Amino acid sequence: MMQIEECLKKIGDDIWFTEVDRNNLKIDYRIKEIIYQGNSPIQQIMILDSYDFGPMLVLDDAIQTTSNDGYIYNEMIAHVPLNIHPNPKNVLIIGGGDCGAAREVTKYPNVERIDMVEIDEMVVQTCRKYLPKVSGKLSDPRVNFIFEDGTAFVKEQRDYLYDVVIIDSSDPVGPAVKLFELEFYKDIYSNLREDGLMVCQSESPIFYSEMMVKIHKNLNSLFPIVKTYMATVPTYPGGFWTFTMGSKKYWKPNPEKFDKDTKYINKEILESCFILPKFIEKLLDDN
Ligand code: SAM
Repeated sequence: MMQIEECLKKIGDDIWFTEVDRNNLKIDYRIKEIIYQGNSPIQQIMILDSYDFGPMLVLDDAIQTTSNDGYIYNEMIAHVPLNIHPNPKNVLIIGGGDCGAAREVTKYPNVERIDMVEIDEMVVQTCRKYLPKVSGKLSDPRVNFIFEDGTAFVKEQRDYLYDVVIIDSSDPVGPAVKLFELEFYKDIYSNLREDGLMVCQSESPIFYSEMMVKIHKNLNSLFPIVKTYMATVPTYPGGFWTFTMGSKKYWKPNPEKFDKDTKYINKEILESCFILPKFIEKLLDDN
């Protein structure tokens, strides 16, 4: 992590935020205002109001979501699995502190329980206060906020299983590293009903192709069906972003059933998001 003076610089009258990715790539965003800056026991949290993307959540110097493009990621990580599963009742979200994914899940009246397991309560509080466009100030009674490490939660015994699990994690650094390990996916598998399915964000196919391939391999060793899909998220490095689904039974989107109020996903995107560019197909086939 960089010192705050390194990632936030005043140049003339302007403030610029620099996101550094693996020391190889720097992206600068012009900032109108530092809305919030604080430290939780887990990480550094900032809400920066940017010119092009509006208020954005930054954790340990990495942009997590923004008011003007966060809906793309949140809609894709939530609606694809909820459309593929014919009757999701119990949904588990791991991470997702900005509440955007949970907000999309609440659009399904048949879902009865939404357990959201986030390691950092301060991220949720901060986003509900300063990032209303993403969090929607989420207050649906079906959402149970559980503030603990997702890897510990999935090891606990419960008297119910999940239909859909959404792993909305930050990048594989710090507390999120374990959310990309085989052991964690095994526990997720055990928490799913016999026809359940999971989806995780599986990183950039350009800058983190090794991680995307590792996730695919890990899920392939557990689930009979593993499929990767894509969306373009401007504030994630390279724009291209992948999601990977591990499913015990269902794999087909049901676009004819899709009737949600969304800004990005529609019936056509649901139907086509599993079509991958050749280089991604090759990366996944070769490994
Ligand atoms: N859409 C975002 C992205 O791809 O960068 C991620 C959104 S969300 C803000 C990620 C959340 O995962 C963070 O709030 C972080 O605190 C949480 N997180 C990280 N490690 C975790 C863990 N082990 N258990 C539960 N939540 C975790």
